[in-house]
Amino acid sequence: MNTVSYKAYEHLAHATKAQPLVTVVIPFFNEAEVLTTCHTRVCAALSNLQQHCEIIYIDDGSQDNSWSLVSEFTHRLHQVRCLRLSRNFGKEAAMSAGMKAASGRCVILLDADLQDPPEYIPDMVKAWQAGAQVVEMQRQERHGEGWLKRTTAHCFYRFMSHVSDHPITENVGDFRLMDQKVVSVINTLPERTRFMKGLLAWPGFTRTVLSFDRDARLAGTTKWNYPKLMHLALEGITSFSTKPLRWATMAGLATSLIAFVMAIVIFTKTLVWGDAVAGYPSTILIILFLGGIQLLSIGVLGEYVGRLFIESKQRPLYVLMEDAMQKPTFQSMETK
Ligand code: UDP
Ligand code: MG
Repeated sequence: MNTVSYKAYEHLAHATKAQPLVTVVIPFFNEAEVLTTCHTRVCAALSNLQQHCEIIYIDDGSQDNSWSLVSEFTHRLHQVRCLRLSRNFGKEAAMSAGMKAASGRCVILLDADLQDPPEYIPDMVKAWQAGAQVVEMQRQERHGEGWLKRTTAHCFYRFMSHVSDHPITENVGDFRLMDQKVVSVINTLPERTRFMKGLLAWPGFTRTVLSFDRDARLAGTTKWNYPKLMHLALEGITSFSTKPLRWATMAGLATSLIAFVMAIVIFTKTLVWGDAVAGYPSTILIILFLGGIQLLSIGVLGEYVGRLFIESKQRPLYVLMEDAMQKPTFQSMETK
């Protein structure tokens, strides 16, 4: 590199050695089609900040050529780190790996498919610099998602905010900014069942909500399907609330009460009017009703026991297979 162009970048040399202002954590699974555009747009958004930042890509066991793509990504001013998990552990685990590795003064979680536009990053950073320790991004429009997904998502958020012991802001996904302090609290949470919307909300701290329109996926298809979403919803409910257990007890109490009242009615009818005992259909209905309530309650109990079983094994959340760090290219030129 000649002296003239080196001089032109000299002021950056100092900046790239300081702690990154922002770490953008991007988990992905088979996203080769979108990663190059994602990197370009994230870098462009970070360039507006004119400070040294960090981008961490987490390959959650992709089977396409995503890893060979990201491990080549570099930037003049920003540090690019690529973590590769040994298999597909799920987005929650991948995000946890990224948050553990993050060294920035604040952390932003972003989807690789560009549904959460990186162009909002400067606004998020501004809100953080104005004093908010958590900047939540609330979805107004959800482009590219059918009415069924929108309705079920809405019902789930409503239900969760009702059952959760800690407030979870409606229509806020993983796209958010968190101060380093908040991230270090989340990193200490040991549970294996990582319902991120709950975990991210748990530490509290000062919050600001910004609105945004969620774009459609740039390319490829969603990694979620309804059985997976159902599983996530059950995990969310059982890991963040014990209310269903209470409801099971209430249902048991209510049915016992109904049975008691019915027994009195039947006895009175038989003794006073000499009526015959009610017939076969009502007996079968009652047996089915009680059986249903019992099975449901056992199922609810089983969900909680299942969580205990998983937690008690204390297995690691994810296994790291590779960790590649690309220092800012400007810095590597400097050392040549
Ligand atoms: N993802 C991941 N591991 C998985 C599934 C998804 O890292 O097992 C990533 C995916 O590549 C994307 C983000 O999580 O960057 C969100 O996934 P997706 O777009 O499929 O979810 P949706 O936006 O439809 O809820
Ligand atoms: Mg998506």
